[in-house]
Amino acid sequence: MKTIGLIGGMSWESTVTYYQILNETVKQELGGLHSAKCILYSVDFQEIEECQANGDWYKSAEILGDAACSLEKAGVDFIVICTNTMHKVVQDIQNRIHIPILHIAKATANELKKNHINKVGLLGTKYTMQQDFYKQVLIDQGIDVIIPNEEDIHIVNDVIYNELCLGQMKDTSRKEYLRIIDALKEKGAQGIILGCTEIGLLVKQEDTEMPLFDTALIHAKEAALFAMYQ
Ligand code: GLU
Repeated sequence: MKTIGLIGGMSWESTVTYYQILNETVKQELGGLHSAKCILYSVDFQEIEECQANGDWYKSAEILGDAACSLEKAGVDFIVICTNTMHKVVQDIQNRIHIPILHIAKATANELKKNHINKVGLLGTKYTMQQDFYKQVLIDQGIDVIIPNEEDIHIVNDVIYNELCLGQMKDTSRKEYLRIIDALKEKGAQGIILGCTEIGLLVKQEDTEMPLFDTALIHAKEAALFAMYQ
């Protein structure tokens, strides 16, 4: 089994999900006392969030690149960046290491294709929803991406940073997300990407009939399968 290098802490609330899914997947596949081999480098999210807010992506790439180098030196076989947003700097991180990074949007695109979804709604941080770095990966796979209107983008983004990343799950916010999911359905979405690794802590599949694609679950499962079978 390969050793997985996790760059987490963005936020730590969702890194917990990764750790759980990695181990559950390995246990399910191999049985017995098997568990995932992994090393976690957990950053201080406050520092990363300040880089994002200041548009200092170079500095954030330096911090995450240093983390990736440390994991490589520690002997991991590949890297998993436990956030959608920070895939904005995935190429800068990749340039500093010699082991592969398992891309979260590529894993998600594969899952969408398996489910025959070619038009999808995307929820995530404002960076993930509005900028091209994430959507382009899906578009390159032939998947159309729809995002919420301007006002709803702010609601989704504010809930992520002011509630979910602080471990707060509010019924009022869940209702807002479900309203926004319905609006994306009206616009033709056949499914919804929970394109922020904390959203699955708030909205569950049983809350809606819309098929949900939770990137934390998809990415962590993909990492476990890659560690065992590739
Ligand atoms: N975990 C979130 C994501 O998947 C947001 C936190 C961040 O900005 O990294 O995008």
